[in-house]
Amino acid sequence: MAPTPSPAWVYPTLSLRIPDLAHPGVHTFLQLLDPHTALTLAVEATLTHLYDSSANAPVVGSVVLVLRSMDGVAHTTGSETHKEIHLSVDYIVKKGGPAEAVRHEIMGVLTHEMVHCFQYNARGTCPGGLVEGIADFVRLHADLAPPHWSPDSVPDKWDAGYEHTAYFLDWLENRYGQGTVQELNGLMKDREWDEQIFKELTGRKLGKLWKIYVGNRDSAV
Ligand SMILES: [Zn+2]
Repeated sequence: MAPTPSPAWVYPTLSLRIPDLAHPGVHTFLQLLDPHTALTLAVEATLTHLYDSSANAPVVGSVVLVLRSMDGVAHTTGSETHKEIHLSVDYIVKKGGPAEAVRHEIMGVLTHEMVHCFQYNARGTCPGGLVEGIADFVRLHADLAPPHWSPDSVPDKWDAGYEHTAYFLDWLENRYGQGTVQELNGLMKDREWDEQIFKELTGRKLGKLWKIYVGNRDSAV
């Protein structure tokens, strides 16, 4: 059964495009997930973690999920108001494994891509690693982290991206309070990137924050 969308959020029109219904990855997707439910849950997780109200979120008119054969896992394209999430059905086949694990992975990927549909990016100047880190922070907080992620593998820079930056953001959220990452996203709404944003958020410079984070990880083992 399709979920009832939460009235707190303005939902985009959700649709699905499948160029080749005969692909086995398409079959798996449709066996495991109801597309409307899956996309609605991804929108809800994204908006809940990035915004405190729909008034602060960008208005995205439509999101199209394209299930097609392609290299890689997934990506998001489109204009500011009309987005397309392309998900590789070859990847779904390659992934394999128990149904629940595949469903969990697909929901994780969809949620990550949905964040790209709604997040602010300092007018396109936000470091790519932070864009990916925020997407995986939402994935982590939606309980959709893949089994191989670990906060113990610390990279050599804060904007290494994906789960590496996500765990740094998670640490900031724990240390400086719930909503810190939401504020970080909000600060990138209509201005260009400047790492001073971290100072505004926490009172500390980014370099210092990273040093404390790495130090904590080293001593936590
Ligand atoms: Zn991404």
